[in-house]
Amino acid sequence: MKEGFFDFKLVRRRFKRPFLTGNGLIDVIDRILLRTQSDQGTGYGEIAPWPGFPTESLPEVLEILRAAQGNLSHLLHTVEAMRGLPCLRAALSSCRHWDAINQLPVTLLCAGLCDATATNLDAKIFAGYKTIKLKIRPETTFAEIDALLYRFRGQLRLDANGSLDLTAARAWAEFVRQQPRIDYLEQPLPVGHAGYASLGPDKIAIDESFLTPGGVTWAGPIVVKPALVGDWDEFITWRQARQGPLIYSSTFETAIGRQGALWLANHDSSNLPVGFDTLDLFENDARDRHTPGPVAENLANFDWEKFWLDLT
Ligand SMILES: [Mg+2]
Repeated sequence: MKEGFFDFKLVRRRFKRPFLTGNGLIDVIDRILLRTQSDQGTGYGEIAPWPGFPTESLPEVLEILRAAQGNLSHLLHTVEAMRGLPCLRAALSSCRHWDAINQLPVTLLCAGLCDATATNLDAKIFAGYKTIKLKIRPETTFAEIDALLYRFRGQLRLDANGSLDLTAARAWAEFVRQQPRIDYLEQPLPVGHAGYASLGPDKIAIDESFLTPGGVTWAGPIVVKPALVGDWDEFITWRQARQGPLIYSSTFETAIGRQGALWLANHDSSNLPVGFDTLDLFENDARDRHTPGPVAENLANFDWEKFWLDLT
């Protein structure tokens, strides 16, 4: 995939109700969908940054794409000559691997995503999720989590989105380590907080603190967002040399980004439930095409050209 053409579409997706991220509530999310055409055929990718993660912004990507004027080799040379751009590199990886992405069926267990107050917990239990992810805040109590574990007999994952101080993080780490039905506590402290060293890696996962493999030495679980991770071939090479568990997680992609992200997750032998319970959260815009539920599957025999043409 060196010579060829590319085009792109900017799409805006509106959440049914404001969605809580590590950076506060959001109503809409913008994505750039990319299509490449080369001697290797047609490929699709999605540039899908996520609030709270220090990637390039969509305006930066738009500037690069517009400057390359649809010329694929021009675009690839520009990206090669620049630093960073993890979202654009991930999207180009998806384009490059698109044939493979659509060849193998993917079936992965998926964790259910509860809102901040767990009001949708019963719906997730009813849908059959065996692992539930829940956001915690500084005011969340251990008793609330114990009550949840009483209602729900599966595994729990807790995500603090960097909102705790070191004293609270230590107490939560101890709580989580004593409870076999909690997989881990995700991002207890802010990015770069020195307290991670004293918390230790056991059942402490990092998410916002991980972007791309370069220089990461955390031995505990790492949450990987395929859309933010940079070049996928470099990531796969790094993954093969790493021992600790990885959990693959969505950035609320459209069908294009999800199809590629599930392919990358499927490369991993750790088989931990993925965090892709992100369908049905948007107003109906026909950009979700996968089936929601406790098993995340990719699309087989899907007409991607029609999907692209139908995008407005
Ligand atoms: Mg997280």
